[in-house]
Amino acid sequence: MVMNVMNKIDDITITENEPMARHTSWRTGGVAKRYVQAQSLTALAAFIATLDENEKILWLGLGSNTLIRDSGFDGTVIATQGVMMQLKLIDETMVYVGAGVASAKLARFCGKHDLVGAEFFAGIPGLVGGALAMNAGAFGGETWPLVIEVETLNRQGEITKRNADEFDYGYRRVSGLHDEWFVSVTLRLAKRLTNDNTINIKQLLAKRAVSQPTGVASCGSVFRNPEGAYAAQLIEDCGLKGKTVGGAVVSEKHANFIINEKNATATDIETLIELIQKTVVDKHGVLLQPEVKIVGESLVVENQVGEEKS
Ligand SMILES: Cc1cc2nc3c(=O)[nH]c(=O)nc-3n(C[C@H](O)[C@H](O)[C@H](O)COP(=O)(O)OP(=O)(O)OC[C@H]3O[C@@H](n4cnc5c(N)ncnc54)[C@H](O)[C@@H]3O)c2cc1C
Repeated sequence: MVMNVMNKIDDITITENEPMARHTSWRTGGVAKRYVQAQSLTALAAFIATLDENEKILWLGLGSNTLIRDSGFDGTVIATQGVMMQLKLIDETMVYVGAGVASAKLARFCGKHDLVGAEFFAGIPGLVGGALAMNAGAFGGETWPLVIEVETLNRQGEITKRNADEFDYGYRRVSGLHDEWFVSVTLRLAKRLTNDNTINIKQLLAKRAVSQPTGVASCGSVFRNPEGAYAAQLIEDCGLKGKTVGGAVVSEKHANFIINEKNATATDIETLIELIQKTVVDKHGVLLQPEVKIVGESLVVENQVGEEKS
């Protein structure tokens, strides 16, 4: 049996053979060879610099857009929750936020300071680093149009400031990261005008609760919307709502959600993903592309940020 072993050295906690089901919103996934929690960015930077240049590294926020295969991750997972937690106003309309801050907290902070444009973050259940990596968005808003600059950390443990125009982004994709990860971002928002109450976080959350399953183990939308169509509609048209593989089921409420209903494995979920793809291709001639990042020993490189094309 594989042992789950924990070591604490210099503000870094390293757990060997950590079950990734504990760290993903689907509650599935095999073990990571090493799971690392840092107390500070300085400690994290020093630790990263000690890793072998061939070590596979996966930064993980809340795992709300990540499927880790049952075979696990044969490398080092960096937990971003609990580190990089700064959140502050730089001037009237600019906000500096660390990659470890919850997207929902950023939305509330902006609302409190009468800033408009970050409301959509309220319903996205991940961290700011994950939002940057995915160009997360909802209700017509998305992350990257708000970005002025980011700070990144590379394998050598160096932190660099990079302008937004050094990155290319589109619908749920970003490219421009080269063996480096997001540490923080500076965002530009708009100042709320007097009597402007057009966008309201409560209304957006209520709208979401009507159309999407909440309080269940999922990864949100599994597939990207293809050009000119909605993935959910194509899946529903194929009669796949309620379809199960093992403990995984296509949501009855929103056909683009797969729920871990009864102790599903990552393999159950991936098999259901493939079944949906095949059925939709057969009926509509459209190959749905997963929005979720599928990670496993064999796939980690090919699913890294920026390698997808829309
Ligand atoms: C119920 C539900 C609803 C959702 N609704 C939406 C929605 O409306 N819109 C939307 O866009 N998404 C939605 N999602 C998906 C998900 O919440 C977002 O993509 C979110 O931004 C992911 O954040 P995370 O911290 O969980 O990322 P993770 O899943 O932990 O990571 C996602 C990817 O980003 C990489 N990454 C994480 N942190 C960093 C970093 N600091 N630097 C570089 N790479 C990093 C990871 O390696 C991985 O490839 C939903 C998910 C759920 C479960």
